[in-house]
Amino acid sequence: MGTATLTIDHSAIAANWRALAGLSAGETGAVVKADGYGLGAAKVAQTLALAGARTFFVAVAEEGAAVRAALGPGPEICVFSGHMEGDADRIRGHDLTPMLNSVDQMLRHVEALPGHPFGIQLDTGMNRLGMEPAEWAALRDVDLGRAPSLVMSHLACADEPGHPMNARQLHAFHEMTQGLSLRRSLAATGGMLLGRDYHFDLCRPGIGLYGAHPFVDGTPVVSLDIPVIQLRDVAPGESVGYANAWVAERPTLVATISAGYADGLIRAMGPRARLFAQDTPCPVIGRVSMDLITVDVTDLDEVPSSLRLLGEVQGVDDLALAAGTIGYEILTALGPRYRRVHLG
Ligand SMILES: *Cc1c(COP(=O)(O)O)cnc(C)c1O
Repeated sequence: MGTATLTIDHSAIAANWRALAGLSAGETGAVVKADGYGLGAAKVAQTLALAGARTFFVAVAEEGAAVRAALGPGPEICVFSGHMEGDADRIRGHDLTPMLNSVDQMLRHVEALPGHPFGIQLDTGMNRLGMEPAEWAALRDVDLGRAPSLVMSHLACADEPGHPMNARQLHAFHEMTQGLSLRRSLAATGGMLLGRDYHFDLCRPGIGLYGAHPFVDGTPVVSLDIPVIQLRDVAPGESVGYANAWVAERPTLVATISAGYADGLIRAMGPRARLFAQDTPCPVIGRVSMDLITVDVTDLDEVPSSLRLLGEVQGVDDLALAAGTIGYEILTALGPRYRRVHLG
């Protein structure tokens, strides 16, 4: 087989959800946006529902429709982007809960779908999504009469526990919601790890479910095995790959493997990334190309039929470091060409 195999361990996803739920002061939901961080939203959501999650989050209504189809009626599916123009049929048809981000969205929602559930997203300082304090102050008596199912905000610096922005946003969220009997949510994965002050009624972890930073106690979820297409001996002085970027200094056995930047293996990771034969590291040599990567396998006793890029030894965060990015981007970039195997 020419394509690489991406193995997704659903028992690890369930274990991560249970571990995070164990930390949580209240309910624990699950963020399954971006196709479940690249791992398949439908299957991931089913696993999380079986583990006990009842509130799911997606970025846009289209994703919510797919998650509803996978889960059936019952669980709440919240949409971070709120109620966008043209969303009304989808929101009603798939029973989605838009997190309204502005007065405009509020008006659109109550006009199109009076009586349909909604939540409110507040901006406590990140300046990305949500109602500003003044906007919310003007609206909230009206909104509360309509009983939002959830009021939420999002932390900008939660993966830096010592950052003063965390306390500032916590304070702002209290100020904006004090004295109101509302179901409240502030924390994603990073916020959950800041402690119970940040948990409120509902936590909304995403990345921690998928086994990546900042939930360092999580269980790895993905492994990626890439088949070796061809082996060749390269003599000292010969070059390998585009731009002759790598030149052999010793007689070298080069393996060409079947994945590249079109599969989300970011070109910038170049020589800092390694492939593994069991526990033995094999350096990437030369440029990462669209469909291929070349690897120095000289030091292996025997070259296996495939080499591992992601797994226990080199995880999502290690690869992110090699590529100068974050685990979120490594996961969501994982390409459509892989054969996906769902375990457990
Ligand atoms: C993506 C996202 C989350 C989940 O964040 P993680 O860091 O992946 O846990 C939660 N809330 C909002 C608003 C988000 O955009």
